[in-house]
Amino acid sequence: MEIKFVKRDVLKEKPPLNALGFGRYFTDYMFMIDYKDGVGWHNPVIQPYGPIELDPALMVLHYGQAVFEGLKCYKGDDGLLRLFRPLENFRRLNVSDDRLCIPYIDEKFVLSALKELIRYDADWVPEADGTSLYIRPFVVATEACVGVHPSSEYKFMIILSPVGAYYEEGFNPVKIYVEDEYVRAVKGGIGFTKGAANYAISLKGQEKAHKLGYSQVLWLDGVDRKFIEEVGSMNIFFVINNKLITPSLEGSILPGITRDSVIRLATRKGMRVEERKISIIEVYEAHEKGLLTEAFGSGTAAVISPISEFNWDNRPITVGDGKTGKVAQEMYDTLTGIQYGRIEDPLGWTQLV
Ligand SMILES: *Cc1c(COP(=O)(O)O)cnc(C)c1O
Repeated sequence: MEIKFVKRDVLKEKPPLNALGFGRYFTDYMFMIDYKDGVGWHNPVIQPYGPIELDPALMVLHYGQAVFEGLKCYKGDDGLLRLFRPLENFRRLNVSDDRLCIPYIDEKFVLSALKELIRYDADWVPEADGTSLYIRPFVVATEACVGVHPSSEYKFMIILSPVGAYYEEGFNPVKIYVEDEYVRAVKGGIGFTKGAANYAISLKGQEKAHKLGYSQVLWLDGVDRKFIEEVGSMNIFFVINNKLITPSLEGSILPGITRDSVIRLATRKGMRVEERKISIIEVYEAHEKGLLTEAFGSGTAAVISPISEFNWDNRPITVGDGKTGKVAQEMYDTLTGIQYGRIEDPLGWTQLV
């Protein structure tokens, strides 16, 4: 499919590098393609970034049939633009789409559209260490109808946002609130997808944690409220007795690409890695015996987020010595090294734009 290009008359002014924050500024262009039953995906276009007109009966506004993805483009010291395992994001988008009755989209085609879009917006990829261009592909139901059924029309879009370094004052551990009142997902639901509804459902717990002085929520399983699932928008890892342990993917957890990368890197480095069910009780017992030396989150936004404290059932515990651990630091250095092209990429994870 040929992608139409609509040029912008006047390019936008770039935001100051030191004030980027996360997801507040958007580039000059966006990619868009429409779907209609009987026609399929059609009319791909790269056009000036800006508002789109919405019918008030648009199905996504009423029933939340929406999915998204999140990945980044990194500018290395060599000036090259790199994407990290981008095809995995579009594969996962189709997994999410399938669960939400959204039609399949050609993964290679949207990846090539993304690269074309980034080339038009190449000047927007920030250069400073730790900064990147955040990429947000998403699909929403666009049929105008207030009856409940899978929409017959969709819009797939990609928007781009230059983002600041996640750790502006160094690689600092965060405090985590273990939520045992609200739940995020259950097996059979949409926990394994990047469905927008997973975020709507998590806001209340997140707000509660913030009020109590915690930066993130650790979700427990929706049935026993005992087994560990994941943190906000990150998967979670524990280092217990020198083993790296992460909850297995049982249908309610998002299969993070960073999670998979950490598992593979740790295995290559000779660590013992276990993907299995792990309960909050086991974590607390390991802490009591002095065996819980590290915990960290993994996700595209922060890459690795060390954890200094958990609070479950009004019982706060400090992880290890409360500082960033050795494994978290090594994973962070290796992953960001590969992403910015500073070190060798032995698994062929990066692609040039
Ligand atoms: C996106 C996301 C993650 C992290 O996935 P990555 O592919 O590593 O960025 C983890 N948990 C949830 C709920 C997410 O939405």
